[in-house]
Amino acid sequence: MSDKFLHTILLIEDDPGDVLLLQEMLELQGCKARLVTVERLSEGISYLQQNHCDVIFLDMNLPDSSGLPTVTRLLEAVSTTPIIVLTGLSDGSFGTEAVKLGAQDYLLKGDIDGRMLKRAMFYAVERKKLEVALKQTRDLFEREARIDYLTGIYNRMMFNELLEAELQRARRYTTDLSLIMFDLDHFKKINDSCGHTIGDHVLKEVAQLVSDNIRAHDVFARWGGEEFMVLSPKNMQSQAAVLAEKLRSLCAAHDFGNGLHVTASFGVTQYKSDDTLESFTARTDEALYLAKENGRNRVESH
Ligand code: GH3
Ligand code: MG
Ligand code: MG
Ligand code: MG
Repeated sequence: MSDKFLHTILLIEDDPGDVLLLQEMLELQGCKARLVTVERLSEGISYLQQNHCDVIFLDMNLPDSSGLPTVTRLLEAVSTTPIIVLTGLSDGSFGTEAVKLGAQDYLLKGDIDGRMLKRAMFYAVERKKLEVALKQTRDLFEREARIDYLTGIYNRMMFNELLEAELQRARRYTTDLSLIMFDLDHFKKINDSCGHTIGDHVLKEVAQLVSDNIRAHDVFARWGGEEFMVLSPKNMQSQAAVLAEKLRSLCAAHDFGNGLHVTASFGVTQYKSDDTLESFTARTDEALYLAKENGRNRVESH
């Protein structure tokens, strides 16, 4: 089994005898990797913050940390480097616990031979690679499940989740909660005359424009094609209408490129005590319909 994949090994171990033993075993196996040794967990962590290392051997009982928290603390500091825990024969059960926490493997100090060491390193590195790749895929899926792919803002599914939570909060604490729904005017014409790519660009830019002009706790989402929602906690209808008017005029004044102008119509409503998600959004939709009926590029409340 080649160990060419290893360049630097970090050994966090305070017992000079154990350090020597590991060093000799690696040498006997012809391991060419550089072995860096530190005695304290804090030294190990600061080394890792500044240097790359391929695999870590970790003694769990160190001058500045002992037992399983040693593993937890190291994992908090470095999440992508594989860790092999070294335990004494008497506390071997710690090893399995350490693996459950996120270490790749454990070795019993009195019971290691050179080949076992190399195998452990090889598998630790491979398993860690898989683990990191899996986590990246999972993060991506999680992101895709709640973020609209085109605009990068929340999608409808995520919006509904957050809306449910805000509705519960408004019900429980009788706080204000307002909802703005807006829809781009004659957007079909933009697509027809400028092309779908420009249409997409307009949607992205509208999303950016609105994101830049709402409060951090306002929830902004793409509800559907060219329809968006802004949920505004702790705002009553009149305040939300002011916000909607601000967003409307920003959009109308914005140059989307080469003098292209796009307007939007806005519907505003506020939470009433017997509202459900459906009744709340339906009322906002009715207000938006009114804005379209009354000539577009305007705000209506309901
Ligand atoms: P109104 O003022 O009544 O809202 O007119 P409108 O043309 O905006 O309304 P309509 O619902 O007829 O058309 C919406 C258009 O939005 C049609 C559809 O092709 C376009 N659209 C929906 N999603 C996207 C998208 O992701 N990208 C682009 N470029 N266009 C989209
Ligand atoms: Mg020790
Ligand atoms: Mg439209
Ligand atoms: Mg529409």
